[in-house]
Order: sequence, then C-alpha cells, then structure tokens
Amino acid sequence: MSTLADLHFDNRFAALGDTFSSKVMPDPLHNPRLVVCSEDALQLLDLGPTEASDPLFTELFSGHKLWSTAEPRAMVYSGHQFGAYNPQLGDGRGLLLGEVVNQAGEHWDLHLKGAGSTPYSRMGDGRAVLRSSIREFLASEALHALGIPTSRALCVTVGDNPVYREREERGAMLLRLARSHIRFGHFEYFYYTRKHDELRQLLDFTLDTCYPDCRNQPEPELAMFRAVLKRTARMIAHWQASGFCHGVMNTDNMSILGITFDFGPYAFLDAFDARHVCNHSDHEGRYAFHRQPLIAQWNVACLAQALTPFIAVDTLKAELAQFIPTFEQHYLALMRRRLGWGDARAEDAEQLDALLQLMQTSGADYHLSLRKLAEDNPLVRDHFIDRSAFDSWLREHQARCQASTRERQAANPLYVLRNYLAQNAIAAAEQEDFDEVRRLHHILRRPFETQAGADAYAAMPPDWGKHLEISCSS
Ligand code: AMP
Ligand code: MG
Repeated sequence: MSTLADLHFDNRFAALGDTFSSKVMPDPLHNPRLVVCSEDALQLLDLGPTEASDPLFTELFSGHKLWSTAEPRAMVYSGHQFGAYNPQLGDGRGLLLGEVVNQAGEHWDLHLKGAGSTPYSRMGDGRAVLRSSIREFLASEALHALGIPTSRALCVTVGDNPVYREREERGAMLLRLARSHIRFGHFEYFYYTRKHDELRQLLDFTLDTCYPDCRNQPEPELAMFRAVLKRTARMIAHWQASGFCHGVMNTDNMSILGITFDFGPYAFLDAFDARHVCNHSDHEGRYAFHRQPLIAQWNVACLAQALTPFIAVDTLKAELAQFIPTFEQHYLALMRRRLGWGDARAEDAEQLDALLQLMQTSGADYHLSLRKLAEDNPLVRDHFIDRSAFDSWLREHQARCQASTRERQAANPLYVLRNYLAQNAIAAAEQEDFDEVRRLHHILRRPFETQAGADAYAAMPPDWGKHLEISCSS
C-alpha cells in the first residue's frame, strides 16, 4: 500500500514538451467538500479506502495542493465535432496532473476535470458543474462494473464557486484515471497542422506507452492502427449490448485505447428504442443509439486519415472494411451470452433482431425484460404487447438456451444507471446531501447481484424520469 503523499510520478507525456501540452496550474475550488470517492479506483493507485478521509485528499483533488513531482499540463488536440473539423480544441477545463506508477508498474494518468481555464478554454470558463461531474463519476464506475472498457473516476469534489450554465450551479472537479488520455483528435491536430515530425513523435510515444507489443510486428504503425480499430469495435459492441448511448461521439472524445471516454449527455436506454438520441443538442440524431457502430467506424476513418503519412491509403481502407464485421462478431457473442445461447448459429442475428423488434414495438424496458428472461420469470411477457409473437419467439429461444440461470444473471444486470437515478442523486447533492450519490455508486459496483434493500434501484423509471433532457452544457 502507498499513501497519498508518496505517490510515485513518472510524467512521460509532459516530457514531450510544449508542442504537445502547456503548463497550467489548477485554479482551486473555494471551500471544497468531497462528494464521493471510488474505493475500487483508489486500489489502482495502491491506496487504501481510508485515504479519502484524510483532509489532504480533498485538498489535492480540489486544486489546493499538488505533489512536488506532479507536472500539470493542458494537452492540445483538435477533432471532428458533429462531422465538422474543429482545429481549435484541447484541454479547456481539465489538466493532466501527471502519471502515477503503481506497484504493478502500470502508469495511470491523473486528470483533474474542472480545474480552471487553460490556453484551450476558448470562450469557456474552465469549470465543470457538480451535475456533470457526478454523472461522469457514476458512469465511469458503473461501466467498469459491467465489464465495459472505460476511463475510471477516483472522486468528485465540490466548491462554493458559482458557475453559470442555463442556471447558476456549483463548480466541481472530477479526478479521472486512464492509462492514457491520448485521443484520435491528438493525431488529427498534428496531421492538419502539417507537423509531421511531431505526428511521428506522437505515434512513437503511443506505440511505446500504449501498444508496446506492436513494436515487435513487421509494421508497428499498421499493427497499432489495427489494434485501435479492434478495441474500438469491441467497445461499441459492449455499448450496443448494454444499451448505452454515449451522446457526443466526436473524434476528440475517442480514446486511442478504445475505452469509453469523456462522458457528456450519455444515457442507458430505458424502453428499447434503436433510434434513441440522448443528447438534447443533437438535433439531427447523428449520435442516435443505432448509429453508434457506423459513427465509430467514421471516427476510426478520421484517425486513418491522420495516419496516411505513415500507412498506405489502400492498406488503411482494407483495414477499415473490417470494422463492422469485427463489431458484429463481438456484439453477437455478447448477446449470445446475455441470452444464454451456447452455440453460434447462422440464424443468431435474425433471431436477436426479432426480439429487438418486439421490444421496439412494445416499448419494452431493455434491461428488465432481458433480466427477467435470464431468470425465466414468466412476468417477462408483460413487457410485450404482441404476446403471441413473443411466445413464439420465446419457444425458439428456450429450445436453444443452454446456460444456467446463474450464468445468465451474471450477464444481465439488475441495477442500471438510469438517468432518473443519477438525477435523484444530483438533486440531493446540490442540497449538500451526498448520501444518495454514494449509495447509488455502491449499488452499481455489483450490478448483477440482487442486493438487500435495493429493490427501488431495479424498478422501471417513473414517468418523470423517462424523458429527461440532457444537453452538452456541462
Ligand atoms: P466536451 O464536449 O466536454 O468534450 O468538450 C469539447 C471541448 O470544449 C474540449 O476541448 C473541452 O475542453 C472544451 N470545453 C468544454 N467545456 C468547457 C468549459 N466550461 N470551459 C472551457 N472549455 C470547455
Ligand atoms: Mg471532450
């Protein structure tokens, strides 16, 4: 075990110098309070659960104190936002404090989001509000518990600083952990500014720090691109299988590690709706739930474009053609597991689609109907309007379902981070009551196991909670 004060830093990204990031000090929150902390995330840094009660913890993660060996930097990047290239992005309100090396020898980026303005803040105030910080915290840790590749969240702090969005809110900070904060947009920035030497340097850095195995391949750059593509396709397969809608799949929000990154107006589906758009600001439905696989492929194509100085265009095109087949293969495997289908069959996609169609026309709750199906609960029928169509689907399903109830429960969560549950926790936290955020976080750590006294968290959303509008302004 380590203690908070003696974390070991090795700041490799900062060492790349000022072309890649700018030195910026955090701008502290006034009168900071610790809202919530993840014990699981503490472990990644070899820290025990009691570290969070040390006053130093809140001081460090609200920008008041800093380790002498940390080197806070704002990273520069660009990216495609809603399909259009934006040459001017970067960490506008977050700082990479440094890279902590744990006892297993892993480097973990400590990124403090909401740490004040930077050279990349443009018109923004450099702040994050309590609402969005809690949403990112809960989602990171909930996705991780579901087995979905994601950045992690260590804690949220809140201060008295007023921050103005649609209304006056409180400023907060989120400490995000990830093995890297390099985004597709980092590569795009150096490609479109024609800084090919720096692009090469970034590529080498990413190979060494994120994809060292690719160094042993005959063409390391191509091997890395292939690995990013595969990981991204797998991540999207998890999102689709779990009913997770990201909401802002801009290329600056795409991690080079293929992990879920930069949570904004995300949502887990309630009633299954393939065309669900969770981002209130996404008027054209570009990032609708069913479009996520194609958008991810489009984003990987943006990365491919930025790698054209090093990899032949035809080679990249051939690789890109593998994206959807890779996604489909993983998606079907995940759904077979959810349904308990032991063997892969030619009719899998069709049989699955038939179920999703029935859910769509019935507005069936995605998670509860799958969970009841996993438990062979006859009440599953109540989720469907066309009972006879569902019954005939069910007969075919039962004829091939091989996994035990226990195995199927372990693939179908009972507790899901529905928007209304997050909303309840946020409303209480805004009144300085952090119990509900902590309770919800605690329940979502074990989403597959029935937990005593947690029935209310496994219920259908109330009417008010079905159509919450979440926008980009966070
Ligand atoms: P996001 O939609 O959170 O991924 O942010 C897109 C870009 O806008 C990133 O470069 C952010 O750093 C920047 N940004 C978002 N909110 C703010 C803010 N309040 N102040 C400064 N920059 C921001
Ligand atoms: Mg972003």
